[in-house]
Amino acid sequence: MNKELSINLLINNNEVKAEVYREVRDPGRLTDVVGSVAVGTAEHVDQAVRAAHHAFQSWKKADWTERAALLLKAADLLEGEISTLAPILTREAGILISGSRGEVVGAANVLRTTVELAESFYRPNQMEDDKGWISVEKKPMGVVAGIIPWNAPLLICMGKLAPVLITGNTIVIKPSPFASMAVTLAMQKIADLFPPGVINVVHGDAEVGNVLTTHPLVRKITFTGGGQTAKNVMKAASETLKSVHFELGGNDPAIVLDDADLEEIIPQIADAAFRRSGQICIAIKRVYIPEKIYSSACEIMCDYVNKLIVGHGMNEHATLGPVNNEMQFNFIKKLVESTKQSNAKVVELGTKLEPDQWENGYYLQPAIVIDPDHDQAVVTCEQFGPVLPLIPYRTEQEAIFYANNMELGLASSVWSSDEERALAVAREIEAGLTSINGAGSTPLGLKYAPFGGRKQSGIGVERTELGLAEFIEYHSLNFHKRTNVSK
Ligand code: NAD
Repeated sequence: MNKELSINLLINNNEVKAEVYREVRDPGRLTDVVGSVAVGTAEHVDQAVRAAHHAFQSWKKADWTERAALLLKAADLLEGEISTLAPILTREAGILISGSRGEVVGAANVLRTTVELAESFYRPNQMEDDKGWISVEKKPMGVVAGIIPWNAPLLICMGKLAPVLITGNTIVIKPSPFASMAVTLAMQKIADLFPPGVINVVHGDAEVGNVLTTHPLVRKITFTGGGQTAKNVMKAASETLKSVHFELGGNDPAIVLDDADLEEIIPQIADAAFRRSGQICIAIKRVYIPEKIYSSACEIMCDYVNKLIVGHGMNEHATLGPVNNEMQFNFIKKLVESTKQSNAKVVELGTKLEPDQWENGYYLQPAIVIDPDHDQAVVTCEQFGPVLPLIPYRTEQEAIFYANNMELGLASSVWSSDEERALAVAREIEAGLTSINGAGSTPLGLKYAPFGGRKQSGIGVERTELGLAEFIEYHSLNFHKRTNVSK
């Protein structure tokens, strides 16, 4: 086992100790202490914000090409740390080691892709006529607060850091208490590439988050997390009229059409639902299946999910890890128990890799829910865990109605052998992203599609030039020509 790690705060490129440290335990081996993390105070938040504000005065003047060069160095540095960061991420957050390695690479790529966007984003925008000329300039906002959840912490952190810094802002990051070690270690290394104060990290829960989101020198909040927290953040931000960017939860529907090849698509749907034990914002969270193919779809799904092997993230044989934390574990257990009391059938599947360790981690068997009602909790809430309801439907319009019949609209998918039919259904779904015959984004989508939720799944977008625009304000310079000056 690794030596225990002690993670400090990062303020003005200095590691800052705190009076209180929170112990971090491995969610897949609760008896193992992974390390401890400094808990910040209101004073630490203030120091971090002031350091970021001070750094902003010169960072904002750097040319975007200088900022881009540093972000590219950061990408290489991050990728070079894969063997250090991936195991820590797995041990603090329960993510399978393959997923943690993929996350480090993905996080480095986010930095590179953002840099690629900057060239066209900063192309000068000037126009002239006989009355005058205008120049519409893009100005950074100032200090940005980046608030991170636990489910994909490095990826989400870089998804904030890259657009914030390339546009000339500085940042104070608050990771989730349930996944702060790998993020902070990465930031400690990356921050050294940048002028002091450009990148700062404070740790803590809602109380520390609240100090950050009410601080008068913070101009913008970019938050990824749950809807209820977002409402608290928005209230806090309103005091000083801060701009907010929210990436929130979803309850992503997959609609299977009656001509779909079930043998081909069900494994893909299951992978998209159970990856990271269902703890992904755009995981498939409910599946609508036509009545006439419902029983075969259920059978194929159960057979496939039964092959999942639940174990510790560091065990390369595991295909499903534990859930991240006790609250999430209890929430899902309760949801499964209450579903069992309903008319729906709950089928618990999979193999326990080390059954003797089962009680020593937040392990849950993957479960399929058959014949749930449209209005029961397992269908209407974001479960964020390894439980998947399969809902039978009679007509496509009924499936579309239920897919849209909620306040969330993050991602979604439609599955069919007929592309035109699938496209027609896809266009009716109220979501930021609808994938056809797949889940999530292809490489082209990752690069060119703005990512964000509709309705209560978010405000604003990530990726593309629109994602960069979240962190700038416009300054229009309008020069009036002296047309009637007497000679
Ligand atoms: P959460 O809302 O509980 O916490 C998110 C962050 O907010 C944490 O750092 C937390 O400490 C902080 N926080 C809590 N209260 C705060 C307050 N009052 N002020 C400021 N900060 C505060 O979310 P979570 O459980 O960490 O993450 C899971 C949720 O995130 C799910 O709903 C998931 O769908 C969503 N998510 C969305 C996306 C997306 O891109 N749309 C991506 C990943 C996760």
